[in-house]
Amino acid sequence: MLSEVDGVRVAVVGCAHGGFEEIYSLLKAEAEAKGWETIDLVIIGGDFQALRNANDAACISVPAKWKSMGDFHNFYSGQSVAPYLTIFCGGNHEASNYMFELYYGGWAAPNIYYLGAANVVRFGPLRISAMSGIWKGYDFRKPHFERLPYNSDDLHSVYHVRELDIRKLMQIRNPVDIGLSHDWPRGIEYSGDHRELFRKKRGFKEDSEHGHLGNVAARDVLDRLRPAYWFSAHLHVKFAAALAHDGATLAKIAFPADQPAVWAVEARTPIPSPKAPAPAPATTPASQPAPKEYNIPMVSNVVRQASGTAESNLNAWNNFASGGALAFERQEREAMLQRMANKSKSESKQEDSVKAKGDQPAPGINQDEIDLDSGNESSGTGSGNPSPVKAPKLSIPSSDGVWDSEVTAEEPLVDRALTEGIRDKLPASFARPQSSGQSVRNKTVPTAITNKLTRFLALDKPHNRDPFMHLMKITPIQSTAADVFSAPFCLEYDKEWLAITRVFADELTLGDATAKVPADKGEEYYKARILEEEAWVEENLVKTWNMLIPHNFQPSAPNFDPEVSLTTTDQPPEYTNSQTTEFCKLIGIPNKFDLPESERTARMDAGPRPSRAGNGGHGRGGRGGPRRGRGGRGGAGRGVGRGAGRGHW
Ligand code: 5GP
Ligand code: MN
Repeated sequence: MLSEVDGVRVAVVGCAHGGFEEIYSLLKAEAEAKGWETIDLVIIGGDFQALRNANDAACISVPAKWKSMGDFHNFYSGQSVAPYLTIFCGGNHEASNYMFELYYGGWAAPNIYYLGAANVVRFGPLRISAMSGIWKGYDFRKPHFERLPYNSDDLHSVYHVRELDIRKLMQIRNPVDIGLSHDWPRGIEYSGDHRELFRKKRGFKEDSEHGHLGNVAARDVLDRLRPAYWFSAHLHVKFAAALAHDGATLAKIAFPADQPAVWAVEARTPIPSPKAPAPAPATTPASQPAPKEYNIPMVSNVVRQASGTAESNLNAWNNFASGGALAFERQEREAMLQRMANKSKSESKQEDSVKAKGDQPAPGINQDEIDLDSGNESSGTGSGNPSPVKAPKLSIPSSDGVWDSEVTAEEPLVDRALTEGIRDKLPASFARPQSSGQSVRNKTVPTAITNKLTRFLALDKPHNRDPFMHLMKITPIQSTAADVFSAPFCLEYDKEWLAITRVFADELTLGDATAKVPADKGEEYYKARILEEEAWVEENLVKTWNMLIPHNFQPSAPNFDPEVSLTTTDQPPEYTNSQTTEFCKLIGIPNKFDLPESERTARMDAGPRPSRAGNGGHGRGGRGGPRRGRGGRGGAGRGVGRGAGRGHW
């Protein structure tokens, strides 16, 4: 039955950590307390833990002693049904094998939709963008090389954000209402009460000031898409902010009392006076300027001028997804070169040892770890690494390059001749990016994206100190106060996003750690291609009424079997998810996730690749194949039909 509502009734939830029965029952109580008949949409910010069975638990980055099955498997098997349509992005504690099956997005269980590595979907009048994973600069430019069985490194890197997925989001040219990421967009803390945040969360001030807090790519996406709302989780604290774009100032307005106080503002664009100098683009509200010591190198809307010759500038600027990521990578490279130069000098003085600090993972150490902090503060070791384990000293750079926080990008660059000599000795990933013949990347915001204010909210996880859910009514950016909307709403594909997905389908490389991600061809190139593909989508999907996301959930792995130990190290084989197959067919792209059976078996029989720590890690560490019939699916790995009936649940 249709009902008229003055906004979409949305519940935002922080990290879920696998406890859905409780989350849904608390949401019900919250909705009742608000007098809402229902919740139209639940948005969960990752660390979702969609474990179908114990073998999936062998593919999640959680130490054995903390592993818990949670209750997602009840929703997967059909024993429970999510009472509200739920969408979620991935975090750093996921059944990564399952999320990989649904790379383009898909139903993880009936009424529970995983948004995939990156996505834009529509829900009624709202347009929602999402990105999964967490930021680790050293994995950003790698392909999705992790395929089952995972070694102990893969188990962590598999959820690190990849540039190609962000490159897709950075091609969006039309307004978005909601953005979603697991970790926070970098620097967002300075658009809210950061002092209070730093007081509450130990180590945050230092991490923030050293540029270790938050997701660089998420900030780039936020700065480009400028959604009205952006939601995140991960840092286990409730925090709200208001971010003005384009030099707009924020003026206080009346706002619903049940919403964060910092949201009670509107953006006002200054009228430029012909005499006054052009205002610098502000990324923080005037009321809460970033402290002087805070350098925002990666999040500025201003394209920073690279040093060096015109040619080296062009080289440096080309081939990157965005100015933010570019600045980050440039820092990374230059710091590396500086360190190498220092090392050469110190070696001549018989000094050795380069300290491994900062963002670089040390062999065998989980750099993303979890403190599953039931109310306790993180240890504040920084770099998104709350693990108390300190990285050992390294004397040579790893293939990812060593991070040494003693050398910063602020130091003068080393003599170019010296760096050129050194560059040759560096791993391939430090080679100069090849010019793709494009000019400097244009960081202007598309003309259709005019929003000047993003309201940000991060929430806690269950059973911690702060609230982990928040309810609000959301109206689309381009609506008036008088608009009403007819619930219930449906989840739909987005035309622009499907076009982008078609354009980028060929650039996706899977399973090969040595592969290079194809160079960025530049916004102008992609724009023309996307427009072509939009015409295809219009013709083949819009006009044929194929834009609704079908209710085509089918289980691909066996249901939970309590007899299999939760700490089993038996990883399942890769399952081909029927939803991914159908999606690829629908939009006419190859399904690179559907491995031929022979390759699937060969991979499992070969066992995991050697890990950096020198062993196969969490796989079975060798031969023998999965225990088919449990982790396996009769060898076929191609999912199982329960005959659940397409289009129903
Ligand atoms: P997760 O549940 O994803 O394993 O870990 C989240 C925990 O790690 C939270 O307590 C969060 O505050 C902490 N954390 C995540 N990233 C950072 C960071 O960059 N700096 C600090 N100090 N803590 C972090
Ligand atoms: Mn997390």
